[in-house]
Parts: sequence; C-alpha cells; structure tokens
Amino acid sequence: MDGRQPPARPRRELSTDTVIRIISNMTHTIREFFPDISVYPALGNHDYWPQDQLPVATDEIYQAVAKLWEPWLQPEALPTLRRGGFYSLVILPKLRLVSLNTNLYYSPNKVTVNMTDPAGQFEWLEATLETCRQSDEKAYIIAHVPIGYLPYVIGTTAMREAYNEKLVEIFRKYSDVVAGQFYGHTHRDSIMVLLDHEGQPVNSVFVTPAVTPFRHANEPYSNNPGLRMYYYNSPDYSLLDVWQYYMNLTEANLERKPDWKLEYIMTKDYNIEDIQPKSLYGLAQSFRTPDSKTFQNYFNHFMVSYNNSIVCKGLCKLEQVCSALFLDHKSYFDCTLKGNSD
Ligand SMILES: [Zn+2]
Repeated sequence: MDGRQPPARPRRELSTDTVIRIISNMTHTIREFFPDISVYPALGNHDYWPQDQLPVATDEIYQAVAKLWEPWLQPEALPTLRRGGFYSLVILPKLRLVSLNTNLYYSPNKVTVNMTDPAGQFEWLEATLETCRQSDEKAYIIAHVPIGYLPYVIGTTAMREAYNEKLVEIFRKYSDVVAGQFYGHTHRDSIMVLLDHEGQPVNSVFVTPAVTPFRHANEPYSNNPGLRMYYYNSPDYSLLDVWQYYMNLTEANLERKPDWKLEYIMTKDYNIEDIQPKSLYGLAQSFRTPDSKTFQNYFNHFMVSYNNSIVCKGLCKLEQVCSALFLDHKSYFDCTLKGNSD
C-alpha cells in the first residue's frame, strides 16, 4: 500500500477525529475484503492533522492506529508504534519487516526542524538492524516518504537533506541485512540503486506507484492507478521480480467500469535476470545511452502508462537518471553537473 489514506483536502475540512475516522474506515474495509491476508501498514504524511506534522512523541493518532492495526501486528510492534509511528516485527522465519515513520524527516514537517534524531528512530533503526545481523535475520524496509532525490525536481530530496544523508549511511552500513526497501509518496513508479562508498550496488530500492492519480504543478502528466506484487526467494528473501498492475483511467471513464490489467513484468520488460542490486544497477546504467529505448519504456512506467507519447529528454532525463543511481548529496550533484549525452 502506498500509505496515503486521508485525501489531500482543504485544511478546514479535516481534523484529528476526521483523520482517525478515515484511517478506521480504510482499515475495516481492507479487513472485510481481505480477511486472510497479512497487512503491514506504514504511516503517510496525510495520515495526520495538520498534514505532514507527525509528532516525535505519543499522541492521539499514533494511539489510534496502534489500536486499529493491532489485529495485523504482533505485540512487539505496538510500543514504538504508539510512541513514534514506527515498528518492526518478524513476519516469516528469519525475516523482519521494519516500518519506518519517514514523515518525521519530510521537509514540510515543522515539528522536527533542528532535531538530530526525531523520536529516536535512527538509534532504534540501527539497533534493530544490528539485532537482525546478530540473529541472522534479513530485513525488508517499508516507509512512505522515500530516501534519495526526487526523480522529477532537480536537486531535491523528499526528506530534509541531513536526514537523507543519515539514512543512506545506515542503509550502507547494514546493506548485508536489508534485502529490499519499499516506499510510496510520489505516486510514481521508480527505482533507485544504493551504491556503497566504492560505487558498488548494495541495495535495491523501489517506489511503488499509488492507487490515486496525482498531478504535480510542474509536470504535464499524471499517473494511472497502480498496484504490484513482488516475488522473492524463500530461503534468503532476495528479490526476484515485480509484477505491476494498472487501471487505464481514460478507458475506465469511457467504459464506466474499472479493468485492472498487468502493465509489465520487470525482468521480462527490461530483460534483466532479477531485481537485485547488480541487475538494477545495470538497468539504470543502460538509461544513460542517448535515445535509450529502455529509458523511454522506464519513463512510461514512471507515469503508470498514463501517456506514452511524452518523451523525457534533457533535464527530465537527467533528473531521472541521477536520482536512480545516486542517493547521497555528493554523488548526486556530481551526476547532475556531468549532465547527459542527450
Ligand atoms: Zn505522501
């Protein structure tokens, strides 16, 4: 799930009670239709009122979600969820799911300005990943606001830059433990490859497109609704593939009914072996070729096939390529200064 539940509404129409009611409706709807499916939520920046201002200590909304989501989680997840909106739990033998509250690091969050470790989440994350390493567990990271640079605005991270640098360093340090990172928030479909200090690919990072369409003021396009399935290897939880589904909104409006279809299978569509760091790195490098057809295909997927006639070149392509390959300040800006060959 993308994590965005309450809609982006004018401020005066929302309140703490309304946000809790919307999250409650959504939780009960999912429980009703998918009673046997495991659900692991991550809080989004709209799951709060006033929006984006998620706090660093326990409050009404953290308490409410801990209660609403309790049937999906295990007792070990609840204390930190109540205290700071994040949690971890073992979901399969030797696999820990870590749900971060990256809204604490989101640039518009005024509550956390000048804090070095909001809600103590960095310290907790390091300790959690250290425990994983000691007990030979792998970890999947889920969170709403993604790490790295936004693929559609030059030089802009979704989080405050200092928080981004800190998270990137933690994930580099524990790249042997983290078997996958999954984010939302942008509504778009994109990949990132975390490189270590020697430039070797060490982690695969995915931003999953949203069910809700969204248009940024600076973009001539939107996204179709999307949802996806990941395939993984069961002994070591390494990632194998993504099956991306979508609903063509234009068609659905014309025919007055939704029709969910397979949009693409990542390994087949990009002709890669799997979706592990080395393969994704090779894919992202291939984007750099002038007039790369693979890149244009990737950009069509970025919009969830909203408009395949839009060509992404020049600055548009530079933003995409640098954000896919470089997640820290220095390497990202080196990339943007070098520029593109088309
Ligand atoms: Zn968001």
